[in-house]
Amino acid sequence: MITKDKIKEHYKITVNRGLIHPGTSFKEFTNKIQEELNEVINEGETGKGLNKEIADVILTCYNMAYHYSIDIEKELLEKIEINKNRVSKNKIK
Ligand SMILES: [Mg+2]
Repeated sequence: MITKDKIKEHYKITVNRGLIHPGTSFKEFTNKIQEELNEVINEGETGKGLNKEIADVILTCYNMAYHYSIDIEKELLEKIEINKNRVSKNKIK
């Protein structure tokens, strides 16, 4: 799993690239996530850039979480535990 230090490092890199600033809005973050998700969709199942585009989605989400001071590592671990105990109505066969 990615470390808190790496999440912080990537956030700072993105700030230094001028893509995030203290006033970056919730809508700007969600628009960027949507943009990156569209790139995943455009790559399709077999696109050569799929791995990089999935990474972009995740890193953009990490940036948003860092911006809002969310301890995403903790949240991910908690969510895994929640999902473990969930009974799915739409099981993948
Ligand atoms: Mg991308």
